[in-house]
Amino acid sequence: MGDAHEGASLPSTGTDATKRRVTYFYEPSIGDYYYGQGHPMKPHRIRMAHNLIVHYGLHRRMEINRPFPADAADIRRFHSEDYVQFLSSVTPTSVLDPSFNRNLRKFNVGEDCPVFDGLFGFCQASAGGSIGAAVKLNLGYADIALNWAGGLHHAKKSEASGFCYVNDIVLGILELLKVHKRVLYVDIDVHHGDGVEEAFYTTDRVMTVSFHKYGEFFPGSGHIKDIGAGPGKNYALNIPLNDGLDDETFRGLFRPIIQKVMDVYQPDAVVLQCGADSLSGDRLGCFNLSVKGHADCLRFLRSFNVPLMVLGGGGYTIRNVARCWCYEAAVAVGVEPDNKLPYNEYYEYFGPDYTLHVDPGYMENLNAPKDMEKIRNILLEQLSRLPHAPSVPFQQTPPTVEVPEEAEEDMERKPKRRIWNGDYDSDGEKEERSNGRSLISDSHLVAKDEMREDTD
Ligand SMILES: [Zn+2]
Repeated sequence: MGDAHEGASLPSTGTDATKRRVTYFYEPSIGDYYYGQGHPMKPHRIRMAHNLIVHYGLHRRMEINRPFPADAADIRRFHSEDYVQFLSSVTPTSVLDPSFNRNLRKFNVGEDCPVFDGLFGFCQASAGGSIGAAVKLNLGYADIALNWAGGLHHAKKSEASGFCYVNDIVLGILELLKVHKRVLYVDIDVHHGDGVEEAFYTTDRVMTVSFHKYGEFFPGSGHIKDIGAGPGKNYALNIPLNDGLDDETFRGLFRPIIQKVMDVYQPDAVVLQCGADSLSGDRLGCFNLSVKGHADCLRFLRSFNVPLMVLGGGGYTIRNVARCWCYEAAVAVGVEPDNKLPYNEYYEYFGPDYTLHVDPGYMENLNAPKDMEKIRNILLEQLSRLPHAPSVPFQQTPPTVEVPEEAEEDMERKPKRRIWNGDYDSDGEKEERSNGRSLISDSHLVAKDEMREDTD
């Protein structure tokens, strides 16, 4: 194989070695967007993942696309007009004008979700990739479509949240629903996939399944008893988990639950959000998954051979995010890459081992087997109440939840939840601490990261 000198991608020898047509969306300027000094969300990680993908020669096994930027009308298919107008016009300079204060509060922009240079262009690239991925799947031009710049699951109809402004996932799913009767959404980010769940909470045309840390953790939603409403009742699944989740425990939940979902719901298309903050050692996360354990979700969903969109999401120890998304690109195309990393532009990030896989550190797994069994049984029971493959009026536009406008006074008083408390780790940056309320304890932030993670 000609790729040997670039990291020896070997064909998969598994039982599911059937080739898939994989299409990949990448905006070359994505790594230049910058949320601000010390902010944990770093679009640079997408460029690092891309760089590994190219140096392993994986790009030769995929079609590569530069996404068309989503325009305001595309984004308004989910988001409100005033919010899109605000996002498309705000700048780091205009935001300093006191007359903007009301809008900043209203749209939850400023702390977790800062106004940075080119903000709308970033949203356009992220959303454009996921909509483009849906179009490729709709046309039958690909079996799997990847967009690591997507997966921004916290964004709401009229509100930014948790580093997310535009919900590319909802926009991608709305596009898929033009052609597909039922879409399954699976979210393995450490945080609950609240924005996507809320958008499709009352419809049976989209089933949402989120595995996440629950309890004293952002965004606070995702209780096992939150199951959807109206015609969407039982079409939202939440799997609340605790600190230290390991590969074996995760697999013991993911595989049986997803198998049952596939049997009962029979989706025509699947969207997998691959948030990498569920990996061991994440700067904001608290799980203990290896890259292989994380990628097993993709491997399993791929085995059903249903059109599959694969998106990014969270992930704040960026060298591990790049490792994970590169490995998952390899899983998508069906090869097993060499553990030794090929030389690449960001090689120094991956020391001292310079390997694709890193062993998870020791961490107590607070997910007890009997609790896991209970959760598994509750969810399998919920799924058994569903009719098989519900037929839906095909021409019907899926409803999105209308959230009533909150009164201005409530806006002023409501403490906004934070995904991150504005604290900084060991990178030596000295910025003023935000006094905003946070659900993330300091212990998750201290000294997990290294200086170079912030010197992009
Ligand atoms: Zn997350």
